[in-house]
Amino acid sequence: MILRDYHYKKNKADNWMEVFQNPHPVQIRSFKTGTVTINRWGTLNPEHPQAKNLQEEELEVPILAHWVHHEEKGDFLIDTGLDASYSQDPKGRMEGTAVDEFQQNKGENISQFVKKNHIDLKKVFLSHLHADHAAGVRELPKNIPYVIPKGEYAEYHPEIHGNFLEGLEELYEIDFLKSNRMPPLGLSADLLGDGSLWAIHTPGHTPWHVSFLVNSMEGHILLAMDAVFVNENLKLGIAPSDYTWDVEKAQETLDKIIEFLRIYPQLKVSPGHEFLK
Ligand SMILES: [Zn+2]
Repeated sequence: MILRDYHYKKNKADNWMEVFQNPHPVQIRSFKTGTVTINRWGTLNPEHPQAKNLQEEELEVPILAHWVHHEEKGDFLIDTGLDASYSQDPKGRMEGTAVDEFQQNKGENISQFVKKNHIDLKKVFLSHLHADHAAGVRELPKNIPYVIPKGEYAEYHPEIHGNFLEGLEELYEIDFLKSNRMPPLGLSADLLGDGSLWAIHTPGHTPWHVSFLVNSMEGHILLAMDAVFVNENLKLGIAPSDYTWDVEKAQETLDKIIEFLRIYPQLKVSPGHEFLK
């Protein structure tokens, strides 16, 4: 794999207030490419002091992908969800006990959605390289840039998550060390150069995990991805611990997102595995 630098301009803004005062003609639509069964015990860290009465309960949650349409710059996908290999086989034709399992109805796969909506894909941005966020790469065009956070390629484990990057010759990496710190969140990169779409370093789930912010005239939406699995993480202030690289960092990141919401109550946070309400 050839890893290239994703070029972006350092934004002049160093605070979100200034960004939100200049929203853009972008629309976002989220859709389900399958579901995954997770446990409430782990979706919310059971070791958290506030989690004393947490009950074990299986939750079937959507596997999401997000379509961002920018009136001047075109169509982008933020995460891809699943490809069609999961509609026949929950393990997506992989073997082994450590392999992720998902449920998918026929026709829910990402390329169907792209086709049905006549999406003219310019680029694909990925929050991290877990199968439920990126397996769909398998069935998407190979002649467009795929963009990941720098450092995340080291977390790509095809033996567990599938070889969904096969066929891609290069990946573009967002180097956050060139970006601004935007309190109360961390390093934030202006992906399209006009302040409409941002990648924000939100470590914990994985070391270089990113959330995305869509600065639309219709509202400001933080696509938290796996920094917030479900709304209950926000409501109780308890971060996930399952599938998590560093639980302490995940909690720090969640605390920052809650603080972000407190400062900017007009903001909407879309969890990684629940539709925005
Ligand atoms: Zn993940």
